Amino acid sequence: MDLGRKLEILADAAKYDASCASSGANRRNSMNGKGVGSAGGSGICHSYAPDGRCISLLKILMTNSCMYDCHYCINRRSSNVERARMSPEEVISLTLDFYKRNYIEGLFLSSGIIRDADFTMEMVIRVARELREVHDFRGYIHLKTIPEASQELIEEAGKYADRISINIELPSEKSLRVLAPEKNLHRTQQAMGGIRTKIENAKQEAKEHRQLKIKPTSSFATGQSTQMIVGADDSDDATMLQRSDLLYRGYHLKRVYYSAFSPIPASSSILPSIAPPLIREHRLYQADWLMRFYGFDVSELTPVEGKDTGKLDLDIDPKLAWALRHREAFPIEIHTATREQLLRIPGLGVRNTDRILKARRWSILRLEDLAKLRVNLKKCLPFIITPDHNPIKLGLDSDRLRARFEPAPKQMEFEFMESKSSAVFGEV
Ligand code: SF4
Repeated sequence: MDLGRKLEILADAAKYDASCASSGANRRNSMNGKGVGSAGGSGICHSYAPDGRCISLLKILMTNSCMYDCHYCINRRSSNVERARMSPEEVISLTLDFYKRNYIEGLFLSSGIIRDADFTMEMVIRVARELREVHDFRGYIHLKTIPEASQELIEEAGKYADRISINIELPSEKSLRVLAPEKNLHRTQQAMGGIRTKIENAKQEAKEHRQLKIKPTSSFATGQSTQMIVGADDSDDATMLQRSDLLYRGYHLKRVYYSAFSPIPASSSILPSIAPPLIREHRLYQADWLMRFYGFDVSELTPVEGKDTGKLDLDIDPKLAWALRHREAFPIEIHTATREQLLRIPGLGVRNTDRILKARRWSILRLEDLAKLRVNLKKCLPFIITPDHNPIKLGLDSDRLRARFEPAPKQMEFEFMESKSSAVFGEV
């Protein structure tokens, strides 16, 4: 099989993995004339495909053959797809070639599991090691690691990669047993724990070296991430968000990526035949953002009673949904509220909250001032008090308040397409 065909098969097989963003990576570069590539400056500048996926990396699998039989995966053992495999040398040469032609800023490398987890991991590491040590490649490298591989190998992967990730895939042991019987949540989390320790030790060592003004003797990936598939099992949003919360707090993950399940050709009969609404993935990203940057507790993000228990509202964003469930917390006085209170106001993001806190030191803010700060007044008005505005007239207690915010179906589709990347990187 020629290299072009292999690339076609292996790049296509990798497209289901969403965990390829590079935020927080070290800014390595070759501006001093040494080495090849750059992960900073004009190096990594992501582009996003219309579906929000990162497209600036060479994103491939070393092979799409796999011993495992995860039902949701097109590369599973029982799948009837054309198989291909690249040697480490082929991946290295493609990466360098594409980099020099300015097609890519880095490499995202994963693999189906062949022979055993350690053998596969060694192949993946060999690519990264030779890129760094033989070719002095300074571009971005993201390696997907295999939780069943030995801890030493996972740690070695971290020495050459900017980011490493282990996909948790499903939020519960029960779902994994049904859909990915060879995988094990405990083992995955154990591997994440090992990586977390290595990352923290490396950071501490780098700090000490900086203080002593000596060159670091070793390096390690700056972060780890994971991916969860949305809608392949019957886990509700609360279960997914609880797992993410545990991963952020327990293992210090940089990101959890949510990837809406897309039915694959000739899929297993235990999988749903239709994809979940894409807006669900979007709402999960928004809720995730609220947990990490807005001070929301995971238990606040979904209703705890009624028919929608555990589900995110698909029609309105999760902060607005929370506000409508907790009208007693509003209206909030813009001039006296704490930062925590301001962050709870629908339509008010982190950036605008900080601008308000700064601006109100010198003046009393009126609606026109908020408009100048580009605050989303349409969304905020029912929830705030300013000297020239009191929301009683807007009917904070009215049952019709929610209807003001519900988008028409077409508009919702537009909201999703337009703001997919801001859900990942923006404000809620
Ligand atoms: S281990 Fe990975 S590549 Fe193999 S079947 Fe499972 S998800 Fe697919």
